[in-house]
Amino acid sequence: MSGLMKGKRGLIMGIANNRSIAYGIAKALADQGAEIALTYQNDALKKRVAPLAEELGAYVAGHCDVGNDESVDAIFDHLSEKWGRIDFFVHAVAYSNKAELTGRYIHTSRDNFLSTMDISVYSFTSVAARAQRLMSEGGSMLTLTYYGAEKVMPHYNVMGVAKAALEASVRYLAVDLGNQKIRVNAISAGPIKTLAASGIGDFRYILKWNEYNSPLKRTVTTDEVGQSALYLLSDMSKGVTGEVHHVDSGYHTVGMKAVDAPDI
Ligand code: NAD
Repeated sequence: MSGLMKGKRGLIMGIANNRSIAYGIAKALADQGAEIALTYQNDALKKRVAPLAEELGAYVAGHCDVGNDESVDAIFDHLSEKWGRIDFFVHAVAYSNKAELTGRYIHTSRDNFLSTMDISVYSFTSVAARAQRLMSEGGSMLTLTYYGAEKVMPHYNVMGVAKAALEASVRYLAVDLGNQKIRVNAISAGPIKTLAASGIGDFRYILKWNEYNSPLKRTVTTDEVGQSALYLLSDMSKGVTGEVHHVDSGYHTVGMKAVDAPDI
């Protein structure tokens, strides 16, 4: 099937480089005819995002730090002027101090707890509130979460607490926006080696553990997350909202270590 996203326009936040999950999503949407606007977090990332935008046929809407309301407003003023209406929004943004993504959760500082919640949780609600004003004909919103929201994962710490709050936000936003024909969902992706993931302690071990113990006996790719995002952002999933969809080689279904998994 092709052209699933033809005539649809939307915003994708969270491309840092071509290993970003947001890039995999943008690629899947662009291949199906979507018109895409991208933002970048800061000048250091601008020069990485610009050539990717060109490759994807996407448009760079500008700089956006989700921790700063003026910066978010500027993007939406710009999109409102340029397009007037959007159909989708992807939030692939998270941040926590690397020093607290290792060891025990109990040592989380107040400052890092609050900033992790601000950037990784509140930003979805704050951007959704602006995006819905441009979704005059309905739309679809998507964020990215991880299994550490549901179960304790080593080193994931405050980010697990944040993802649990993010998943709850998905459900509340789905109810708030349902009567505007706006759907709100999340993908719970399995571990993928990205810039953000490199800040998590023992990440290589987590990758291996997932590879050995998931039903599919491998990790997932950003392309695979992109294909599932295409489903959730297109009319293929018209009846789906408030959902956390796992794209993790089935890892979340497993209760114990596989009998044939090697020790790592
Ligand atoms: P990534 O480093 O490629 O992307 C993270 C993005 O967040 C970057 O583009 C960064 O610029 C952006 N960001 C951080 N702080 C920001 C701010 N203040 N304002 C605007 N943008 C900001 O890593 P990724 O793994 O592709 O992460 C994307 C999402 O996927 C995150 O929510 C992450 O938690 C989630 N996720 C990742 C994995 C994984 O294993 N990589 C698994 C499940 C979920």
